[in-house]
Amino acid sequence: MSKNYTDLLDFDKNNIWHPYTSMSNPLPSYFVESAQGVYLHLSEGKKVVDAMSSWWAVVHGYNHPVLTQAIVDQASKVSHVMFGGLTHQPAIELCQKLIELTPAPLSKVFLSDSGSVSVEVAMKMAYQYWGTIKKRQANRFKATDKTKLLTVRNGYHGDTFAAMSVCDPVNGMHQMFEQVISQHYFAPAPKTAFGQEWDSCELDELTTTFKDHHQEIAAFIIEPVVQGAGGMRIYHPQYLAACRQLCDQYDVLLIVDEIATGFGRTGKLFACEWADITPDILCLGKALTGGYMTLAATLCSEEIATTVSDGEAGCFMHGPTFMGNPLACAVANASIDLLITSNWQEKVNTIQAQLTKELLPLVRHKSVADTRVIGAIGVVETNNPVNMAHIQKRFVEMGVWIRPFGKLIYIMPPFITTPDELRTVINAIDTVLAEPECFLEK
Ligand SMILES: *Cc1c(COP(=O)(O)O)cnc(C)c1O
Repeated sequence: MSKNYTDLLDFDKNNIWHPYTSMSNPLPSYFVESAQGVYLHLSEGKKVVDAMSSWWAVVHGYNHPVLTQAIVDQASKVSHVMFGGLTHQPAIELCQKLIELTPAPLSKVFLSDSGSVSVEVAMKMAYQYWGTIKKRQANRFKATDKTKLLTVRNGYHGDTFAAMSVCDPVNGMHQMFEQVISQHYFAPAPKTAFGQEWDSCELDELTTTFKDHHQEIAAFIIEPVVQGAGGMRIYHPQYLAACRQLCDQYDVLLIVDEIATGFGRTGKLFACEWADITPDILCLGKALTGGYMTLAATLCSEEIATTVSDGEAGCFMHGPTFMGNPLACAVANASIDLLITSNWQEKVNTIQAQLTKELLPLVRHKSVADTRVIGAIGVVETNNPVNMAHIQKRFVEMGVWIRPFGKLIYIMPPFITTPDELRTVINAIDTVLAEPECFLEK
């Protein structure tokens, strides 16, 4: 099959938006023909190791026979059906699995189509929950109360409006949307790094915020242990444990966003396990389907579900068109089975050991400010921002797919990545770090 790549790429460049990309002066896009295992097959026979797992999602690699078959089998039964008044085996099976794998109090599942939507759903649940409580106990707090959220700086929770309002106010999109975005409370980002000695002094400001504003705060939302797109920061689990304790003490719901960290990425099945805590509401996405389809889930406790349902509306007010999509649920079931029955922990630990041994020492480069690792996540923070167009080209030339942003060159390879493949990735990073052209002045 011959394709005129130049024509196709021209159309792409002129007519198709890409994530966070200018339409008038876009960065180049690379053309993916197919993908197999950890490899993306680009045009003209070029092959690159995907060190990004397509943004945390493709944990088992591409075109996995079991996952592909799950989609084929389900497509021959029913690909989609509305979830209003109808149900099906793949959704039931998936929710059973999610309840079983997550901490005990989480027993009610809301399925949605993307991570951002699962965060919106979590927030709406929190607001509806307090709405009911308010009605039940008229004197408990003032009518205007419990309409705010509390979070920490450097967070990332998605691109829709409510999710965006709890992303980092500086590196997020707050300024641009200042006029239309809801204002919430922000505490400093967790400071003590994972593996460092815990210093409880860093809780002072967070504690003060809880103390001063808890009557206005419906929920506290946080990414557990790893802050992803807001800075790739890895923090002490004791901080997360303290958040749980403060939420209990001040009557604030705890929403944990495991969209990036869930399904083994940090070395635990869920990053909450590092702190041995249970959230009131949990968001899952990204690796849920092994990166095959878009799907997310919001889990909550029985208490929250019944309180929401006892409210004015008598139900939870949300229902996406593609809720519980059977194809997505079927491949999620296959992906979770594959994960659970595989030696995923050993694979993640092996990746972690190699990253520790080979990626952490890259801090020796003059261009590097910090390196950090947890589970199958490796981060190189540079002193200067990367020159995207150039560094991307260099990575592809060296046979790897890494998509840095700002001062962060970070990787989260598929769990099936072999030591040699990972070495190719680390060597490519090692090489660019010594090339001044790969970085901007400041
Ligand atoms: C990616 C991400 C989201 C948003 O998920 P989408 O599927 O892109 O909408 C939310 N929270 C975290 C922690 C994420 O990493």
